[in-house]
Amino acid sequence: MPKTNLIDPRHLYHPNEFPEQTQDTPALQQAMQPKPDCGETSYVGHERLKDRNVLITGGDSGIGRAVAIAFAREGANIAFHYLPDEAPDAEEVKDLIEAEGRKAVLLPADFRDADAPQDIVAAAIDALGSLDTLVLNAGQQIQHQEIADLPMQQVHDTFMVNVEAMFAIVQAALPHLEPGSTITTTTSIQAFSPSPHLLDYAASKAAIANYTLALAQKLTPEGIRVNGVAPGPIWTPLQLDHGQPEDKIPTFGQDALIGRAGMPVELAPVYVLLASNEASYISGQIYGVIGGAPINP
Ligand code: NAD
Ligand code: MG
Repeated sequence: MPKTNLIDPRHLYHPNEFPEQTQDTPALQQAMQPKPDCGETSYVGHERLKDRNVLITGGDSGIGRAVAIAFAREGANIAFHYLPDEAPDAEEVKDLIEAEGRKAVLLPADFRDADAPQDIVAAAIDALGSLDTLVLNAGQQIQHQEIADLPMQQVHDTFMVNVEAMFAIVQAALPHLEPGSTITTTTSIQAFSPSPHLLDYAASKAAIANYTLALAQKLTPEGIRVNGVAPGPIWTPLQLDHGQPEDKIPTFGQDALIGRAGMPVELAPVYVLLASNEASYISGQIYGVIGGAPINP
């Protein structure tokens, strides 16, 4: 008889092919088939982040939304940023946070605007009173099969949204972070095993991984822990808005060793751990959530 308390990870969530689908910006989670699982009905909190004041970037959908839901259920107040056009997804996250009796602060901003990162930090502190936990997760990914088709404006934007915003947010938030605060970045398996159709994206994710390790060397001696999470293939709107070639969507993630794409909720426990006081000796690390492959083959 198989043990009933064991869950086979290969058969969870959506192990089959996804329906063919694409979106243009704004890519909304609401419009996806199936909808990503961000823990809306399943994540159970244990007060591990009680009364923390958190800023999450890209919290409307995907991984950032799973972090927002989990952190609220762990007792935190959440200021979350999102691309303004993604407000319909953000409103759902607001309701989910408030259903936990926690504060939700909505911060729409486009990081292609150079002032946006500083503005959202100021607005988060203004609304929450203080800040102690950063989850830097917003990002854009736009694939091109041919180098000649990659616009330089896209290269510029990818680095502005994925990398430069991170520098600016940390710089603005740092004077407000007391010892015990945490910073968690979202890098990618692409930082370590880059794909040729994601040249600018993969390079930006490598920059984030490198930045995370250097920042940890600077801030760990000051009592601020810094870590990164490197997801593998996760079912989110990012993939549908030109993130992958259209014909690759149905089998997205099936080449992971587990045999399927991950769902955002499967990332949440790692972000919770890294932000929690239980992780007091964990800093300067990159955690892979990749479905079985080594992070650095
Ligand atoms: P997502 O589309 O749900 O989240 C990305 C968010 O970034 C968007 O919701 C949006 O709010 C924000 N964003 C996009 N363009 C922006 C801009 N110009 N200015 C400001 N914000 C902007 O997708 P996701 O997969 O949850 O992505 C979250 C993070 O995870 C990203 O950094 C992504 O690179 C990383 N990641 C995702 C995967 C995956 O397979 N989904 C794998 C590795 C890493
Ligand atoms: Mg979104």
